[in-house]
Amino acid sequence: MKDSIKEIWVFGDYRNYFQNRVTLQLLSRATELAKMLQAKVCAVVFGDQVDEWVNEYIAHGADRVLVIDHPDLKNYKIETYVNLMIRLIGKQRPEIILVGATNFGREFAPRIAKRLKTGLSADCVDLDINDEGLLVQTAPSFGGNILAQIITPECKPQMATVRPGTFQEIPHNYERTGEIVRIPMPADLPKERVHLIFSERSPQRSQRIEEAKVVICGGRGMGSKKKFKKLTELGELMNAEIGATRPVVYANWIEADALIGQAGKHIKPKVLFAFGISGAIQHTAAINNAEFIIAVNKNPNAPMMAMADIAIVADANQVCTAMIKELKVRIRG
Ligand SMILES: Cc1cc2nc3c(=O)[nH]c(=O)nc-3n(C[C@H](O)[C@H](O)[C@H](O)COP(=O)(O)OP(=O)(O)OC[C@H]3O[C@@H](n4cnc5c(N)ncnc54)[C@H](O)[C@@H]3O)c2cc1C
Repeated sequence: MKDSIKEIWVFGDYRNYFQNRVTLQLLSRATELAKMLQAKVCAVVFGDQVDEWVNEYIAHGADRVLVIDHPDLKNYKIETYVNLMIRLIGKQRPEIILVGATNFGREFAPRIAKRLKTGLSADCVDLDINDEGLLVQTAPSFGGNILAQIITPECKPQMATVRPGTFQEIPHNYERTGEIVRIPMPADLPKERVHLIFSERSPQRSQRIEEAKVVICGGRGMGSKKKFKKLTELGELMNAEIGATRPVVYANWIEADALIGQAGKHIKPKVLFAFGISGAIQHTAAINNAEFIIAVNKNPNAPMMAMADIAIVADANQVCTAMIKELKVRIRG
């Protein structure tokens, strides 16, 4: 059993490292929470030949890293990873566990919470420590209509998953040192029932929408799939990424990974265009960090217009077409 200093654990999800920065973002927030709690930050890393990530997590704020490094852990195996985590938690008793709300994290964290009979707040948009030293987990609730502040006073560990892009990572510092605890792979784990047959990377976007400086978001007001496609042409001219609201994704006008909102991605562009978007809270919760918003909507009273720095009352298609025409003239001369 470790000494009595509390620990905040961050699960090390290092897949697609250069795109998926959520672990580094969580380490950054965990470092701030640890100061309030007088706790240590500990990263947990499972995998095969993972020293690179161990050092990376120390450079980004981890005081300690628990590592299980074994060829059997090369690919994510949900049951094995959960079993390993449960054993570590049983021995080390962390105060708080934070997991990125990636596809894997969303599968992983609830299984741990269920097995340990503790609480878990999913898709948090903020984390804090209250006067009682409890983790305050701010998460969209009741269909995203309110932001609930949730505490877990009676069970440990306190657990939360957090969306990529919610917190800013701190710059790495390779001078930092930390304790590395190497744990042998247990021989008596239950057999994994899920077998990976093959894996294939899905086609990459030109840049990650969460990091894009300019994002063009389209909503149902674009009218049709064909009209929505014009936004892609505009995006190419502006080197912008394309995002969408839920009705657009459901209508199959664009792939699901373009979804911006509570159920999709959080963005923080310098400039955000919102074409034909009403501004429902489930969508706007994910664009609060946009620096400058230009909205185009036929309805001047749409909530999106109130949120915008420039609100253009017009037909979204006409504005999009006019911008394409003007940009082509400017670019080609
Ligand atoms: C649990 C839950 C989770 C959800 N998660 C998400 C999420 O992650 N992301 C998300 O986006 N939504 C989410 N939603 C749905 C959300 O509540 C809204 O329904 C959705 O964001 C609305 O999308 P929209 O603005 O494209 O469509 P609408 O609300 O239908 O708005 C269309 C807008 O276009 C305008 N318009 C119409 N024609 C034109 C035109 N020719 N030119 C200009 N403007 C025009 C209209 O005035 C209107 O303001 C979620 C809902 C629930 C219950």
